[in-house]
Amino acid sequence: MTEPDNNFPEEAIFHGIPASPGVAHGLVFKFSHGDIEIPSYEVPLESVDTEVQRFDEALSKTRCQIREIRNEVAANLGDDEARIFDAHIMVLEDQAFIDDVVAEIRECEVNVERCVHRVSRRYLDIFAKIEDSYLKERATDIADVTGRLLRNLLGLTGSGTAFLNEARILVADDLTPSDSAGLDTSKVLGIATDSGGRTSHAVIMARANAIPAVVGLQNLLDSLEDGADLLIDGFDGTVVVNPSEQTLFRYGKISKRREKIADIADSLTDRPAITADGKKVVMFANVETFDEVKRSLELGADGVGLFRTEGVFLRNNKFPTEEEQFQEYRQAVELLAPRPVTLRTLDVGGDKVLASSSSREANPFMGLRAIRYCLRNENVFRSQLKAILRASAFGQVRLMYPLVTSVEELLHANHLLGECKKELESQNVNFDSELPVGVMIETPSAAAICDLLAEHCSFFSIGTNDLVQYMLAVDRINNDIAYLYEPCHPAVLRALQRVIQVAREKGISVGVCGEIAGDPTFLPVLIGMGVEELSVAPPLIPEVKYVLSRTSTKDSEILLDDVLSCDQSNGVHDCLKAFLRSTMASEG
Ligand code: PEP
Ligand code: MG
Repeated sequence: MTEPDNNFPEEAIFHGIPASPGVAHGLVFKFSHGDIEIPSYEVPLESVDTEVQRFDEALSKTRCQIREIRNEVAANLGDDEARIFDAHIMVLEDQAFIDDVVAEIRECEVNVERCVHRVSRRYLDIFAKIEDSYLKERATDIADVTGRLLRNLLGLTGSGTAFLNEARILVADDLTPSDSAGLDTSKVLGIATDSGGRTSHAVIMARANAIPAVVGLQNLLDSLEDGADLLIDGFDGTVVVNPSEQTLFRYGKISKRREKIADIADSLTDRPAITADGKKVVMFANVETFDEVKRSLELGADGVGLFRTEGVFLRNNKFPTEEEQFQEYRQAVELLAPRPVTLRTLDVGGDKVLASSSSREANPFMGLRAIRYCLRNENVFRSQLKAILRASAFGQVRLMYPLVTSVEELLHANHLLGECKKELESQNVNFDSELPVGVMIETPSAAAICDLLAEHCSFFSIGTNDLVQYMLAVDRINNDIAYLYEPCHPAVLRALQRVIQVAREKGISVGVCGEIAGDPTFLPVLIGMGVEELSVAPPLIPEVKYVLSRTSTKDSEILLDDVLSCDQSNGVHDCLKAFLRSTMASEG
């Protein structure tokens, strides 16, 4: 067996996915979930009841702990982030799981730890064979919860950071929600994980606590020893082991510069988003909850460009009623009025599975998702359309359909919208009869027929998160092929340019609401293409405004010509990076 190369006498560089901005330098703490040794022994028949009782007690203790974590997370990060722990509690309350463990204890007459371990392994093995992202997540929940249950049975304390006497950079294979919830964040300088995506709970926690994080590093953990010297750059996903004096000096300068930029960016909150040569760009926010609506207002958004309404559906274990939806939308619309709120109709399917859904698809991202789901489930769609129409009486609402692939779908949806309007009219219910209807351009087919779609809608919003995945045939949540997920691909650039050009020719507004809209490197090229609306996660608004304020439309148009002449993504990357460097260097 070859020993892992633990020591890098020289500096070594790893590249991952930037997940939470900032630079951290410090010593490594290799975080382990604490591999648990499971004792295995027979128990005499008369002690079997005691084992069952130990199981009951451990279940209640674990439930209490998870409830406590849930409340803490809800208080610190909000209800949405806390919801994952409801799923954990559901595992502990799952009667089939409880019955299986008890049956195993009684039938095999062995200790409870062994039975919990065996039953959970059985479940995990079944889940491992299923190619379904939703069920894979449930498997993570089971592993997380049963690990905690076993630690409680064995009287083991957690594997958190509480015992550390100094803050460290935490390096892990992955962090489960309860790992990250159990961290003492004052002891965490930064986070680097081999797996994980940009939307994992650990990453959300890192961003909320301004802890730099890089994920998807693949083989960092095994290459390091506890206490190694590490620098992580959460801005561009670089991790440096044993950074040299020169590297530290360079990063010191970069950090200072970035802090300065962050300060300037914060001062732009109350100002409109304007390019260096005075072109106004509408700065919208992407939101899912009312808290985010409030946050977007504080950070100077001109409105909401994407309200992911599925949050309202996924938060509940049942479909929200029309009235419940109306109340949710209305409070956002009223708070932001007269700024517009773009309510996207239900985008479930793909990786967003409703708790009530029993159907499992082989290819969920290609399946009954978004507008397809709504057109198949007309009652669900009608109730949402009516709730949105009713909310439109209280401010400026725009309605938007996700994942449209054909004119037929758009006409079908518009037809149902027309029927809902008639129904409300007949009941004398107020709504905005001029409600703008938009289409998300997030499939190659929609991009190809955007001229035809433009005849039946009043705006486009380009959803590049999906457009990139479908254009390049790269599953957006598959770690193994994350390196192929490339917004700089010439095919993507051409599609973006065409959609924007067609929208302008047709006289309808066009915005970008995918992640690239908030990426400082990508922004200038979008401006060069003539985008007039950007919609980004609320925390990114100040920085986007800052980058815009340094970017002129004329230079962006030249940049666009340059990138369109590149035949490979790398060339595009180089052009974009060089452009950003030069615009930022010109700062006084
Ligand atoms: C997109 O696909 O770019 C988008 C904004 O929608 P979502 O990320 O919700 O699929
Ligand atoms: Mg999408």
